[in-house]
Amino acid sequence: MPSEEVAAVGSVMGDAETHASARGSHRAAAKAAPRRLVVVSNRVGPIGRDKAAQGGLAVALRAALERAGGLWFGYSGSISERPSETPKLTIDRNITAAVVDLSRRDFDEYYIGYANRVLWPLFHYRPSLVGFSRRALAGYLRVNRSFARTLAPMLLPEDVVWVHDYHLIPLGEALRQLDCRQPIGFFLHTPFPAAELLRMLPNHRDLAAALCAYDLVGFQTAADLEGFRDYLLRQGGGEDLGGGRLRAFGRIVQAGVFPIGIDVAAVAEQAAAAEESRQMRRLTSSIRDRSLIIGVDRIDYSKGLPARFAAYSHLLEHYPQTRGRTVLMQIASPSRSDVPEYREIRRELEAAAGHINGRYAEFDWTPVRYLNKSFNHRILSGFYRAAGIGLVTPFRDGMNLVAKEYVAAQRPDDPGILVLSCFAGAVRELGEAIIVNPSDLEAMAEGIWQGLQMPLGERRERWTAMMATLRRNDINAWRERFLTVLEAAGAGR
Ligand code: UDP
Repeated sequence: MPSEEVAAVGSVMGDAETHASARGSHRAAAKAAPRRLVVVSNRVGPIGRDKAAQGGLAVALRAALERAGGLWFGYSGSISERPSETPKLTIDRNITAAVVDLSRRDFDEYYIGYANRVLWPLFHYRPSLVGFSRRALAGYLRVNRSFARTLAPMLLPEDVVWVHDYHLIPLGEALRQLDCRQPIGFFLHTPFPAAELLRMLPNHRDLAAALCAYDLVGFQTAADLEGFRDYLLRQGGGEDLGGGRLRAFGRIVQAGVFPIGIDVAAVAEQAAAAEESRQMRRLTSSIRDRSLIIGVDRIDYSKGLPARFAAYSHLLEHYPQTRGRTVLMQIASPSRSDVPEYREIRRELEAAAGHINGRYAEFDWTPVRYLNKSFNHRILSGFYRAAGIGLVTPFRDGMNLVAKEYVAAQRPDDPGILVLSCFAGAVRELGEAIIVNPSDLEAMAEGIWQGLQMPLGERRERWTAMMATLRRNDINAWRERFLTVLEAAGAGR
């Protein structure tokens, strides 16, 4: 690595010790692979393997970076009064995390106000929850420009830059304005809305044009890609150049479908190892010979949790054989409690769990276990394995990694069955699950009932088919596919 490039990386380091070791790690990475991977996402890490990462994006990116190594840049998760534009660095094996704090105002406008009160509800087909303000939009653009200013001097000419998710749509354009010429790709973890829905956004044209500043834009499903393509062709005066290339807003962008995978082998291993764990023994002895139905979600209106509780209540009411014989354990990890809609749903869920338990519980049986907390992946894998049914019923979800993790964690000789919403991106790959519409309570209850009755042979057959798909497109295959297409698209620019 030429010395001026080391200096560019070094210029953002805090102290001499960090400086020296970071330089070493970049040299090693440069030797092993010609291009360094630079991942950018709103939240970074935690990068240590044993730390509990929360949310699909953090889990997936850590797994993606573990093999390839590289730099991971983004928000630290902390708010400070006058945040420095010089990032703080942490190194764990082959991953260097570079993080910056946000001011309270930036956090409120960029993260809460625009990303999570405008883009998130709109992209999840909940336009009535959108609360647009120009102030929040200005904050969103300001933070993206500031991230670009901080990141640009850290980039080496041979880097490949991979930006993630709806928080950072304008980042690629901002980096280009700072004359960054590296291949820059963007992957959207959430759904992308239909063109008519996107048009509700006052700044829809700028947002779509910003996406076209990337060399490659990746989506979870063909439906998401179609929303983008349709918008560009009908609203952006775009043209389809064939081979996934689109011309719009005076730019050419490659767009494709790259459904995100999981680290199948790691989840399967963790789940097998968890059989002997204290938590798993405590769980199975408390469930006894009942069937465990598990749900694992961040508390979010897109996850369809109140409807799921209502479906379970319907099951208990209309399939009385399930009373005393089943337990629904819902892990609902706290999320975005600064956004009012999220506090509201939490109250709603507590009330719903209380109602079901109040109506059906017996002195020796409680139907719903509602856990308002997070668990690490090791413990979760064991819980998945203990559950005969995995219940994943979002109203809309980009992918839903829990669906994939549940399948990967099952016992090969006696696997449980996944009950999956037709609106989770994962359904495109996991067609052998029991597929339900989350707006149809009766169908969800029937789906659970079908799962409870399903003979071992059929469960094994479905599981084997789903595992083959998950293994083919695991997290490493996903990363490699995206980066290969990105490098080719970047080279052609
Ligand atoms: N997760 C976790 N601990 C918890 C709850 C969830 O580690 O208590 C992880 C879960 O294993 C999965 C991710 O968070 O990897 C959730 O991803 P998903 O795609 O299902 O939903 P998202 O939260 O990204 O909307």
